[in-house]
Amino acid sequence: MKKQALKSHCQICGCKLSSKKGEYAKPTPSGRSHGTRHHYIAERFFGRTTNKRKYQANPVFTKEDYQEYAGQTETFCYECHEELLHNPVFLPKDIVKFAELTKKRHYDETDKEKTEERHKLGQRIKLLNEVISKGLDELLKP
Ligand SMILES: [Zn+2]
Repeated sequence: MKKQALKSHCQICGCKLSSKKGEYAKPTPSGRSHGTRHHYIAERFFGRTTNKRKYQANPVFTKEDYQEYAGQTETFCYECHEELLHNPVFLPKDIVKFAELTKKRHYDETDKEKTEERHKLGQRIKLLNEVISKGLDELLKP
């Protein structure tokens, strides 16, 4: 798949992206606004990886899951990509509610011990995506 070009502005906060070599992640305006590419769906979830890890886990998703987004990326600034998207804040009360919802949908690990099977993790990831999507729809209502 052909790599998509980085856009000129962050697709979340809208800042003008910088591309100064050696600045990525530095606590400077150019480091914080450094352009970076984010996969909508992590490649490892499909059992693919671009790095050279020896251990390759079983895919989390099947061929039917999110295939239309496989390999698709978007451009963000360092802050929106690495700090916002990769480190969402979950408060204890929300973890309790998400665990309750997980159990209600039967996506919890009922056998209590992990196996090679990763289908339920895929279901929990999709459930979290549903929560975010419905929350966004609710907050965008006039
Ligand atoms: Zn941003």
